[in-house]
Amino acid sequence: MAEKLRFNGRVAVVTGAGAGLGRTYALLLAERGASVVVNDLGGGRHGDGSSTKAADTVVEEIKAKGGKAVPDYNSVEDGEKIIQTALDNFGRVDILINNAGILRDRTFARISDQDWDLVHRVHLKGSFKTTQAAWPHMRKQQYGRIIMTSSQSGLCGNFGQANYSAAKYGLVGLNNTLALEGDKYNIHCNTIVPTAASRLTEDILPPDMFAELRPCLIAPVVAWLCHESCGDNGSIIDSGAGYAAQCQMYRGEGVSLRKRITDDLSIEDVRDSWEKVTDMSKATPLTTIQAATSNLMTVLEELRTAP
Ligand code: NAD
Repeated sequence: MAEKLRFNGRVAVVTGAGAGLGRTYALLLAERGASVVVNDLGGGRHGDGSSTKAADTVVEEIKAKGGKAVPDYNSVEDGEKIIQTALDNFGRVDILINNAGILRDRTFARISDQDWDLVHRVHLKGSFKTTQAAWPHMRKQQYGRIIMTSSQSGLCGNFGQANYSAAKYGLVGLNNTLALEGDKYNIHCNTIVPTAASRLTEDILPPDMFAELRPCLIAPVVAWLCHESCGDNGSIIDSGAGYAAQCQMYRGEGVSLRKRITDDLSIEDVRDSWEKVTDMSKATPLTTIQAATSNLMTVLEELRTAP
């Protein structure tokens, strides 16, 4: 068998690592040689309260197996303090897994400002704060591996999760831009879209599925994305139950709604072409902003030269 992938000398920060998915990421990275900051606020699933117990328990678990770990009890809203814990204890930060999360599910009409803000503060702002604090250190050392945690709710929408799905899709946007800005510094940013049994999903997933969806089956996928030999940057990986697949945005072939460059456009022109506008039979992936805008150039050129 090929040599095992190791993380010796690497320092990893895992947010929300006191339970669920984050705990399995921290355990696996430590088992493979990384020094790990086990961050967890230790509150309830709706963002209430705090405790040192969750992070402490996982640090003890890692140490009992001979690994290196320190706890950190800050909220991801104070991301700079979490990164400081890594610097104070291990002198660097190589890997950042933005995983901490809460839920405040309500149907759209019933979402309060607090439900909206708290979910955005933990998921989107927390990932921004923690990543921005790690960024200059990763740039300086010309190395970094960052993970964002999105959700099928973000990619597809989910009844009762408007606040959560908006924040989770926001993380995809953050991922896409960080992948571009980090590339020349060898900082890679990728996104995991997990499905696993945890306290966040115990009343959402069907009971028979819940038992099968062990979080530890996602940890190797995340660890691979964090390894120096993984070249992916900007990928969005859906994973659960030992399955993994890349997700991408697609755009249909589309159609020019005008015949000549001097033509105006009416609502009826749009209606009459709607079938072609929405036809996805010749769809292609939208991978770069250059690719996204280049077809506008082609359309304009065709209109200019139309007889
Ligand atoms: P979990 O509740 O078991 O773990 C989340 C951890 O984050 C908890 O230990 C919690 O204390 C911690 N946390 C919450 N707010 C924090 C804050 N402000 N600062 C620091 N830590 C904080 O849930 P999980 O299912 O393991 O979720 C992990 C991530 O995966 C979340 O971002 C979640 O939205 C995402 N996710 C999970 C699933 C799934 O199927 N479990 C699906 C899609 C996305």
